[in-house]
Amino acid sequence: MERVRIDVERCKGCGLCKEFCPKGIISLAGYFNRMGYHPATVSDQEKCTSCAACARMCPDVAIEVYR
Ligand code: SF4
Ligand code: SF4
Repeated sequence: MERVRIDVERCKGCGLCKEFCPKGIISLAGYFNRMGYHPATVSDQEKCTSCAACARMCPDVAIEVYR
């Protein structure tokens, strides 16, 4: 089940979501998005608790969390 959806084209690769995820499941992808940033990706959706810390931290409102 997908709990977190990151809009990779909105993401500026700041890494704040990665820093604040208590589960440590967010990383920055190796590829570039259209704006030239490495977008955040969630490695293991199953470990996500839907705490939404990542979504609250994102300055670009690129993250949606589902319960
Ligand atoms: S909702 Fe919480 S556990 Fe899930 S990816 Fe975001 S910060 Fe991590
Ligand atoms: S906080 Fe938002 S803009 Fe920053 S890396 Fe995460 S998804 Fe991208």
